[in-house]
This record gives sequence, structure tokens and C-alpha cells, in this order.
Amino acid sequence: MAIIIDGKELAKKIRQDLKVEVDKLREKKVYPKLAVIMVGEDKASQVYVRNKSKACNEIGIDFEEFLLPSNITMEKLLELIEELNNRKDISGILLQSPIPKPLNIREAFNKIDYRKDVDGFNPINVGKLAIGEKSFISCTPYGVVKMLEEYNINPEGKNVVIIGRSNIVGKPVGMLLLAENGTVITCHSKTKDIASVCREADILVAAVGIPKFITGDMVSDGVVVIDVGINRNEEGKLCGDVDFESVEPKASYITPVPGGVGPMTIAMLMKNCLTACKKQNNL
Ligand code: NAP
Repeated sequence: MAIIIDGKELAKKIRQDLKVEVDKLREKKVYPKLAVIMVGEDKASQVYVRNKSKACNEIGIDFEEFLLPSNITMEKLLELIEELNNRKDISGILLQSPIPKPLNIREAFNKIDYRKDVDGFNPINVGKLAIGEKSFISCTPYGVVKMLEEYNINPEGKNVVIIGRSNIVGKPVGMLLLAENGTVITCHSKTKDIASVCREADILVAAVGIPKFITGDMVSDGVVVIDVGINRNEEGKLCGDVDFESVEPKASYITPVPGGVGPMTIAMLMKNCLTACKKQNNL
């Protein structure tokens, strides 16, 4: 039986600690504030933005939402980002993805001032991460690393297998765990015989976006499994990339979905926002 890594509980604890810090800042008349830009009316994005607003509210981080119509021009979107970059009261800026085509999300991320880039998607922050300098780490990978740390799982010398090489999950998770001296292998859709690569893993991170992609026969006994996937199964229920039922009996630690990586992502966003605010105020 594996130990279940309780992301929900851990995220709650992180939010509580952050609230204590925010209260102290507010006493000093320093007010952290997150600006969230949403373009169009994507239903899932609306839920994510609502959850971010709730978390800010709970912690005491001010929140300002910018809802833009889906036919907004790139020029107007960049103008708004520039305005928020220059506003002294805004600590962090988050552009909710996806944004409708033909808008170019990469151009928009590049425009966000790296000192306010609480999502860690600006190339300056990505580059800093790659060369091991302090930077804003994107929230999901940051959450993954934090979970391992909290459960005293040290990647040093371990075989770390990551399934997925996206810019928002797979690649940054790989860079972070390499920096922690893991031996990192990243798999993707062109990888041959993924099952045998997975069986070599001491730590397996699944970020592939396919329900139940990792099954019990693909893992070795004692593996630590971090399931980043958020998918819907045939019945419309949330599920991860890992077939929990067949993998859990072989694992030493495993994250559930829901209640694993998901809540950690928002907690780390709050942490990044607070860090940005403190830096901007030389605290
Ligand atoms: P993505 O951009 O679609 O990337 C998926 C990756 O999986 C790609 O690198 C792709 O390879 C690889 N892949 C696809 N099919 C494969 C196959 N059959 N075999 C091996 N590799 C395969 O997805 P993402 O944005 O990284 O998200 C991954 C999952 O995490 C999704 O379920 C998403 O909802 C979830 N997610 C959760 C959170 C959270 O807060 N918990 C945050 C972000 C994302 P190629 O590069 O070769 O195409």
C-alpha cells in the first residue's frame, strides 16, 4: 500500500502560512495584488480563474480581473500587459491560457515583465531556471517539487522519468529535478517502448494528458508516482494520467487526482505573487 501524497492538505498548510506573511505585510501597508487577464469565455478557464480569486481572497492578496472579448486584437492585449507592467499596485500578472486564435500567447507571455511573471512563462524566467538562477518557477512544476520535499523524497541519485515535454509542465519539472541531482529522462510521443523506460523509474512524473496512460505493469515496486494529469474519463469524472487502481499497490508514494498536484498549483501561484510583491518592495 502506497502513502498517498495529500496535495489538498499540503496546499492548505501553504496557504495558511502565506496568510500569516500577507497579514504582516498589510500591517506595514504593503498590499500584494494579482492581476489576471482572461480572453474569451472558455468554461474551464472561468473555473480556474474563480479558484485563483478565491485563494487570493482567503490569503489577503488583492485580485483584479481583466475580462477581454475573444475578438480583441493582439495590439490591445499587449497594451494592457504594458499598462499592468507599469502599475505600481500590481505585484503579479497572470494571463490565463488558452487564449483564442489568432492571438499569439507566446508573444503575450514575452511581454509580461519578468519581475511580475508569477506563472514563470517569460523566457527570462525559463532561462534563469535552465541555468540554475533564482527565478519565478511555473506553478505546477513548483508544486511537484514542493510535494516531494514535504514528503522527504530526495531526487538525488534517483532515476526520474517524466512523461511529457510541454513548456508548462514536463520541461520545467525535468530542469528542477535535474538541479536536485536526479537522473532525468523525459519521454514524449516519439519515445520508443515507454513501458520499459517507466519501469526504470524511482520517481515517475506523468504529464501526458491521457487518462490512465500509466498502468501497473509499467512501473516497478516502490516507485514514487506524481500524477499531473487532469482529464475527464468516459463518465465525465476527473481523472489523472495514472491508472490509480493498478499502480497504487506497487508504489511507495502516489498523488491522487483530484486532490494531488492540482491544489498545489494554486498555492504556488499565491507564493510566487507574494515573492514578487516582497521583491518589488525590497523586503
Ligand atoms: P501537453 O502540452 O498536451 O503535453 C503533453 C505531452 O505528452 C507532450 O510532450 C506529448 O508529446 C506527450 N504525449 C502525448 N501523447 C503521448 C504518448 N502517447 N506517449 C508519450 N507521450 C505522449 O500537456 P500539458 O499542458 O503538459 O498537460 C499534461 C497534463 O497535465 C494534462 O492532463 C493537463 O490537464 C494537466 N495539467 C495539470 C495541471 C495541474 O495543475 N495539475 C497543470 C497543467 C497541466 P509531444 O511533445 O511529442 O507531442
